[in-house]
Amino acid sequence: MPSNFYVGVDVGGTKISAALADHKGKILSRDKTATPRGAKPKQILKVITGVIKSVVAQRGLRLKDIRGVGLGAPGIIDPEGRRVVSAPNISLSGYPLAGKLEKLLGLKVRLGNDVNLGVLGEQWLGGAKGARNLVGIFPGTGVGGGVIVDGTLLLGAHGAAAELGHLIVDPAGPLCGCGNRGCLEAFSSRTAIEREIHRARGERDKSRIKSKVLAKGLKRKDRIITRALRRASEHLGSACVSLRHAFDPELFLFGGGLIEACGGFILPIVQRALDRDPFFKRVGRCRAVASQLGDDAVLLGAVALARRP
Ligand SMILES: [Zn+2]
Repeated sequence: MPSNFYVGVDVGGTKISAALADHKGKILSRDKTATPRGAKPKQILKVITGVIKSVVAQRGLRLKDIRGVGLGAPGIIDPEGRRVVSAPNISLSGYPLAGKLEKLLGLKVRLGNDVNLGVLGEQWLGGAKGARNLVGIFPGTGVGGGVIVDGTLLLGAHGAAAELGHLIVDPAGPLCGCGNRGCLEAFSSRTAIEREIHRARGERDKSRIKSKVLAKGLKRKDRIITRALRRASEHLGSACVSLRHAFDPELFLFGGGLIEACGGFILPIVQRALDRDPFFKRVGRCRAVASQLGDDAVLLGAVALARRP
């Protein structure tokens, strides 16, 4: 009888984590390692094979017992799931990661964008369970996105679809890292919220403001923090209204540390923007919901990818 075990890997700029799971997505073992700083693709490959072998061995299994490996990586992944086209925070650009791993492990390997896989994981077992049409938005350092249309992850011609952080919400807005002006992430990323708070306080110190600190500020009704988060939420709301006209999703799924800490404030503002849209009044409702799987979303999405026939 063929085995039903899969390995999901989340390759991040700071850490590389892996999980062994069964076909239902039950996680059986885990491991993680820091991403070596300034590492070359070959060194990263070594770390990835290391965590994969570790989660398999922890359960007394061998590589031949594994049916497939799914891998989430940052950046643009080619639509065939073989190669990292470009990655900003890890030196894997142009690297044929799936093929190299297959050779080393003797297993079938599939690659996907980490945020896309996070959305896939949430659709399989989390906050968007069972939804066939949904849009995922993850405000963090930037604003990541993933779109599932009629049950299928939208990849685009070059694998660069659903980069929702670069939707332009105000052409007169601030310059974004991508070179355009007024992108969603120039307003609604945690970085943009931080910048707005430092500016309003007239602070020179541009140190990081943790999501927890933002949540505490909301609780004690700090005016500057509340205003910055309201502005970020309203721009998220506008973006969702436009995205709804493009994809007609059942729900918008929001995830990431900022949402875990401040979702109770952000999501109702987005929901109100969606409910106000007269176009959809007779068509049906669309909900703004929070993710449920946290850091496991990418790992389980990677397992979901590996499971596909
Ligand atoms: Zn941009």
